[in-house]
Amino acid sequence: MKELQDKLEYCLNCRTKPCQNGCPLQNDIPTFIAYSKQGDYKEAYETLCQTTVMPFVCGRICPHTKQCQGACVRGIKENPVSIGEIESKIGDIAIQNKWYLPVKKPTKKNKKIAIIGAGPAGITASLELAKRGWEVTLYEKQEKIGGILRYGIPKFRLDKLYIDVLEEQLINYGVKIETKKQLGENLNLENLITKNDAVFLSIGANKSLRMGIPGEMQENVLGANELLEKEKHLNYKMKKVIVIGGGNVAMDVSRTIKKMGAEKVIVVYRRARAQMPAEPKEVEEAIKEGIEFLFQINVKEIKGNKVHCVKTMLIKKEGEDREFPVEIQNSDFELDADYIVMAIGSKLDKSGLDKISINEKGYIETNENYQTSLKSVYAAGDSIGCRATVAWACYSGREAAKCIDKFEK
Ligand SMILES: Cc1cc2nc3c(=O)[nH]c(=O)nc-3n(C[C@H](O)[C@H](O)[C@H](O)COP(=O)(O)OP(=O)(O)OC[C@H]3O[C@@H](n4cnc5c(N)ncnc54)[C@H](O)[C@@H]3O)c2cc1C
Ligand code: SF4
Repeated sequence: MKELQDKLEYCLNCRTKPCQNGCPLQNDIPTFIAYSKQGDYKEAYETLCQTTVMPFVCGRICPHTKQCQGACVRGIKENPVSIGEIESKIGDIAIQNKWYLPVKKPTKKNKKIAIIGAGPAGITASLELAKRGWEVTLYEKQEKIGGILRYGIPKFRLDKLYIDVLEEQLINYGVKIETKKQLGENLNLENLITKNDAVFLSIGANKSLRMGIPGEMQENVLGANELLEKEKHLNYKMKKVIVIGGGNVAMDVSRTIKKMGAEKVIVVYRRARAQMPAEPKEVEEAIKEGIEFLFQINVKEIKGNKVHCVKTMLIKKEGEDREFPVEIQNSDFELDADYIVMAIGSKLDKSGLDKISINEKGYIETNENYQTSLKSVYAAGDSIGCRATVAWACYSGREAAKCIDKFEK
């Protein structure tokens, strides 16, 4: 507790709340830290619960350096306040004390909603609507709820007990959970529209993208999202694996493969280390675990076990802030690999969505109220191309729930 108190005392309780503005969910960080400083952890937790349903998750896996901690004034000259760590600690205290269970049941509204997809967006929307008196059924294609929190982010980064807590919370709020129900398979959108006042799509976008290079459909080329989601791992013992990408997914998949006994794991990224979308602490962990990195390298072709690469230089384009990788002529070389894993992004699986408009980026099209091309169907999270983080998915689920609550069929 002394260590926690030191971390709390380090916060200046700024009146302008810059950290709150850095948080996608707009959590009132200065206030929850102020309550924590006084030892009033329950009030601190309840402050967080005004804007989020999963502080114990966000505290652990949010990219804090790019969000709240990146906006903390303490970070200008020194280290920022350890907001994530403090949030996790308060979350754990709440779980130990079961403060996450509701105190009073909401007044029923006689309105029904089908929520499809039980990841952060679907869980948040379910709880927000249940709190507002809606009868909620949450459908999920997997055996268990959680989305990428359960089937994606490895156990060494997020203990699955936190998703069990979310499940307990949903049940306690009266949300009916139906697993092994998949839209486009044993769930039909039109039937759900007829039987409910509204339908909410929160099916994520977890189909690995390919690069469009020769050889990428070979058997030894794998999609990172599918590997992590389905846990269909191969025997990596004594194998050499190349992971292409520089984000969270690339870090998770390379660390998982290394932990499973691969002899060598090399992450190949076409930009520089400073430009990696992955959280710096994840990159540091990966390096500590023996994963090698090759920066400013583009993969051009895969032929059997040979990966044809070329070096890149970074150039600034007019009117753009970011530097772009440009291939350097005659810098080609080859790497050997038993397996090549693509972790360069993911897209929406459109199965079962034939009646819904998809935008030019390949996501479900919605208006500013999260409404799709079908009037009573709403969507949020990664499926609408949210910024692919848990906090943004929760934010969109929360805001969509507010819009749905005002909707009359
Ligand atoms: C490996 C990995 C690591 C990540 N690490 C981080 C991180 O550290 N920090 C961070 O902030 N973000 C991270 N992200 C991103 C984050 O997990 C996502 O942005 C977030 O989970 C999106 O939430 P969602 O609810 O929109 O979708 P998802 O979490 O993808 O949930 C969608 C749910 O819908 C279900 N579903 C899909 N199709 C159907 C269907 N047809 N019928 C019924 N159910 C269906 C799925 O099974 C799933 O349960 C990571 C992503 C990946 C893949
Ligand atoms: S910006 Fe940093 S120091 Fe200021 S209130 Fe937020 S966490 Fe505390």
